[in-house]
Amino acid sequence: MSTKYIFVTGGVTSSLGKGIICASLGRLLVAQGLRVTIQKLDPYINVDPGTMNPYEHGEVYVTDDGAETDLDLGHYERFLDITTSQENNVTTGRIYYDVITKERQGAYLGKTVQVIPHITDEIQSHVLKLGQSGDYDVVLVEIGGTVGDIESLPYIEAVRQLRYNVGRANTLNIHLTLVPYLAAAGELKTKPTQHSVKTLSESGLQPDILVCRTEHHLDETIRRKVAQFCNVDLEDVIESRDARSIYEVPMLMQEEGLDQRVIEKLKLKTKEPNLDNWIGFVEAVCNPSGEINIALVGKYVEHHDSYKSITEAFIHAGAVNDCKVNINWVQSDHLTDENVAEELKDVSGVLVAPGFGGRGISGKLAAVKYARESKIPFFGICLGMQCAVIEYARNVCGWEDSNSTEFDENTEYPIIDIMHDQKNIENMGGTMRLGKYKCKVVEGTKARKAYGAELVDERHRHRYEVNNNLRYKLTENGMVLSGMNPERDLVEIVEVEDHPWFVGVQFHPELRSTVNNPQPLFVDFVKASLKHAKLQKKYTKLKKDNAVAGQS
Ligand code: GLN
Repeated sequence: MSTKYIFVTGGVTSSLGKGIICASLGRLLVAQGLRVTIQKLDPYINVDPGTMNPYEHGEVYVTDDGAETDLDLGHYERFLDITTSQENNVTTGRIYYDVITKERQGAYLGKTVQVIPHITDEIQSHVLKLGQSGDYDVVLVEIGGTVGDIESLPYIEAVRQLRYNVGRANTLNIHLTLVPYLAAAGELKTKPTQHSVKTLSESGLQPDILVCRTEHHLDETIRRKVAQFCNVDLEDVIESRDARSIYEVPMLMQEEGLDQRVIEKLKLKTKEPNLDNWIGFVEAVCNPSGEINIALVGKYVEHHDSYKSITEAFIHAGAVNDCKVNINWVQSDHLTDENVAEELKDVSGVLVAPGFGGRGISGKLAAVKYARESKIPFFGICLGMQCAVIEYARNVCGWEDSNSTEFDENTEYPIIDIMHDQKNIENMGGTMRLGKYKCKVVEGTKARKAYGAELVDERHRHRYEVNNNLRYKLTENGMVLSGMNPERDLVEIVEVEDHPWFVGVQFHPELRSTVNNPQPLFVDFVKASLKHAKLQKKYTKLKKDNAVAGQS
């Protein structure tokens, strides 16, 4: 069977959830025995999102092979249980970069280099590369942006050419659109969808399936109208209502028959779908027995997408522990040693988030100190782990001036320091310690118990490390280095003993949590936080009883 390509475009407005629709369709096809991958084509000029501010772009998702990519790739991995790579995310910046590099090398043999055919050819070659690997039955391609945008045009044209080149029978276009409800008229409106399909058609693309985002049920009359004016079959008008959880979308799409329409049109050979595991997970997410509050301390908390993989990892870990994890978003800028107890009084666990730069560091240090001293489960990720180490060096080891050279180049005790190979780097993009590295986990530690394995792989994205010349001071004072990178002798995990759960990790465990494989440290952290919540409840009750006894 030759590889089939499904292109997913979006119309009317952004934020319709194209990534989730792609991931959900991918999940349904995987459940029917197909080998699927998803590629995201982004129409911006940045070569990758690695240099973008989280406020601009949300989280930067890092793949095993160290690519800094769009956060939709996280959805693809979490839904499909696949690993993606550099090839799964291509931006306009990368396309132009490659074309200009080739031009400088003389590869175009004196030709005038143009958007058509050179840019469109380059786009096609990136799409075909995944298909030609022989690893996939289906390549789903999500085209970022909205149809009609100037910057999307070369992608739409590339898709048109590719459909022509590999044959219509091997390709499909799914168009995601909006059918808004006008409360004043009490009606669903199809005109925006008609316009967006018209715009797509003007570029030479006719959608095969329309997925309509809507807040209300699309009845037969509306569906007929959409089908007729947009030139698709009635059964190819798919309703997409808001779901209880993004993880429910595959089931909703299955009910609507999206996967069956795709399978029929592309003549895919499939087996009986097996979604048992998935359905069990969604039930656990939607009907938890209990709930807990965990603080997420970070400086981008107004923009939840900056921590997308962390919030998803909590959903996975919550399902394993049969509880809902409520995230209390805590702005690190506002935290001080004075207000931290008050700010964190309602939580049973504290996570200090990854990040860059000095803003909010003192607040993060206050959160670490509070969690360590009050024996509240603590999880530090990347910068959060570095803060845990700095706090320990200052307040337990007695190195008051200790710091990371990221925040104070002249600190007397640079307990966190820039890596040797990072010192002379000038380019900002793609130059950190990125991607998958090994970590050897020490026997008898919390991390080892959580992982149940000695050697694990986790993904990285940072320039600074625990300073190997000074780390003796930490161990002398009881900090446990519970995970080490065997090749470079770098500290990967730290723990504090005599504490219910205090773990800091230099890597990003959230990036490898999927529905089918929840990340072990997240699962164990939630478990410890649940245990702590029970204790908190007991103490509150005791306190109340005592107060009553005192009164009588
Ligand atoms: N700023 C820190 C470093 O570069 C931590 C990075 C992160 O949290 N991802 O090492």
